[in-house]
Parts: sequence; structure tokens; C-alpha cells
Amino acid sequence: MHIFMTATQQKHFEHVLLRQQAELVARRRAYLAGMTRSDPARDVLLQDGDDAAQRAPDRDIDLQRVEEDVACLSTINAALVRIAAGTYGICRECCTDIPVERLEISAQTPYCVACEAQCECGRKPSHKL
Ligand SMILES: [Zn+2]
Repeated sequence: MHIFMTATQQKHFEHVLLRQQAELVARRRAYLAGMTRSDPARDVLLQDGDDAAQRAPDRDIDLQRVEEDVACLSTINAALVRIAAGTYGICRECCTDIPVERLEISAQTPYCVACEAQCECGRKPSHKL
């Protein structure tokens, strides 16, 4: 385990990550269940005089949300792996400690603020998860 973080803190972040993971999995399950059960029925109900073009953006937004959830889930899983490996809270780019305050806001982040900013600028796309 990394020295700057106590076992209690690490346990805390592990709980936070596991809770977020459970919420995302549950939301995705609910969404997929909704897709298979109610969507075909809703589409049939909406066919009369409905504007298909009006519905398409809704579907796009749903899919985008699912994709975001999947991406988020993979960063959470990666963070849990780092906890198990004892590298959690260390920036993957510059190897400095990620402040606990930052982890409280974004428990799954693999980068310190400076490296995250560089990634978001697209200068280091290879380091994105
Ligand atoms: Zn860094």
C-alpha cells in the first residue's frame, strides 16, 4: 500500500468505488430490461401519427448515456484493481500522490489534476483508460 494513504482511507475509497459500481450496474440492468420489455411496445403504441424523427434523438441520448456508464464502469473497475495492487491514489502519468480531496470528488480518477488537464486537452490520448 502507498504510504500517503491510511488503510482506513483506502477502505473508504474502496467502498465508494464499489457503491458507484453497483449503482451503474443496476442502472444499466434497469435500462436494458426497459429496452427489451417496454420499448417495442412503446414503439408500436407511438406509431400512429408519431414523428419518428422526434423519437430518434431520444434513443441517441439513451445510448450515449449507456456508453458513458460503461466507460465510467471501466474506470471504476480499473481503480479497484489499483486498490488491490496497492497503486491506488498514485498518478499513472507522473507517479505523484493524487490528493485525497481530489479522490473524494472523483474516486476513480487515475491522474492528478495537472495530468488530467493534459489528457483532456488531447495531448496524451494514449494514457486515457
Ligand atoms: Zn500526474
